[in-house]
Amino acid sequence: MLLRADLNVPLNGSHITDDGRIRASMPTITDLAGRGARLLICAHLGRPKGDDYASRAAGGPSLRPVAGRLGELLGRPVHLADDVAGPSAGQLAAALSDGGVGLLENVRFEPAETSKVDAERAGLAGRLAALADLYVGDGFGALHRKHASVYDLPALLQHAAGKLVQAEVAVLRQLTENPKRPYVVVLGGAKPSDKLAVIANLLDKADRLIIGGGMSYTFLAARGYEVGRSLLEADQIGNVKDIMADAERRGVEIVLPTDLVGATGFAADAEHNVYPADAFPADRESLDIGPQTRELFARKLAGAKTVFWNGPVGVFEFPAFAVGTKAVAEAISRVQGLTVVGGGDSAAAVRQLGFADSAFSHISTGGGASLEYLEGKTLPGLAALEDGR
Ligand code: ADP
Ligand code: MG
Repeated sequence: MLLRADLNVPLNGSHITDDGRIRASMPTITDLAGRGARLLICAHLGRPKGDDYASRAAGGPSLRPVAGRLGELLGRPVHLADDVAGPSAGQLAAALSDGGVGLLENVRFEPAETSKVDAERAGLAGRLAALADLYVGDGFGALHRKHASVYDLPALLQHAAGKLVQAEVAVLRQLTENPKRPYVVVLGGAKPSDKLAVIANLLDKADRLIIGGGMSYTFLAARGYEVGRSLLEADQIGNVKDIMADAERRGVEIVLPTDLVGATGFAADAEHNVYPADAFPADRESLDIGPQTRELFARKLAGAKTVFWNGPVGVFEFPAFAVGTKAVAEAISRVQGLTVVGGGDSAAAVRQLGFADSAFSHISTGGGASLEYLEGKTLPGLAALEDGR
């Protein structure tokens, strides 16, 4: 059985800095192996560079550290093939015993995995299909990609969705089909252009939109405020004005920061003060929300029955500017209802700030995939699993 998993963990050299995605894949792996499957796992890691297989395999990253961590979590060694769909993969597949687990090398060593040319992807999918008789799709974080192992391969084998994909999709359905109200969406992160499509699609679902972080300055600028040297996407001001007008027509409240932490520059130790959002100095750069906004956001979250949060509301990577993001995480963790954190940096932020995963109903393993789902797009990999393509 071939299991497509998302084991794309952050690495520092060969050290895994957050094994969240490996742990999130374990229920499916232990379930299938426990039922006697011969499990060949296919996954990608990072973005290997090079025009051909040889240069990519030479440059890495290899899945070796991931095989090691998988083995630790499983309690027995997980063998790693030397290639993706070559002789070593074939030997590994043939050597698996019932309940055995093996891992193929980084599928992105094969340039065809991400090719825009259908025939190239089909070729790789065919070689992978020859290694197994069944396909389980559990790589939620890759479902929005039209890649060979995600989109083309399930068409060649009898297939099913894994437990993680089922759980992620069940949560996304709750966020889009009959969410319990009040439904509050908190959006932050770097740029409005990343998130405007999500906002547009959520306007007919959510009751309230709280906006902070890097993207909030374009909203404040659209309201005519000075934002100094803060992140600004000037070319998005028109789109943001349209969104705000649409929200008003639909009765969706948009909550913006009322005070901002303004720093002298983008640095962990930058000198900083709190300024009202309507009197922000031209020579400062905002890196966090202010104390009044922390309380405002917490008040606007209290009593919610459904919360979706994507995007830190400040530069949480600098401890001095993580205070707002921590306050938002705390306010959401107090909500009695469905609370969902989506987005790679948002998930990293809550873990770095010391929140247990159990402080929220669900922390998504897929930033791009969950955002595209919430934009109302069809995820190619999900459609392939559901034969809906
Ligand atoms: P996610 O990965 O959760 O979807 P994004 O990638 O959209 O989130 O945004 C995360 C980034 O946004 C973080 O690196 C954070 O430092 C940055 N960010 C948040 N607030 C600000 C701000 N006020 N100024 C500059 N960058 C910000
Ligand atoms: Mg991000």
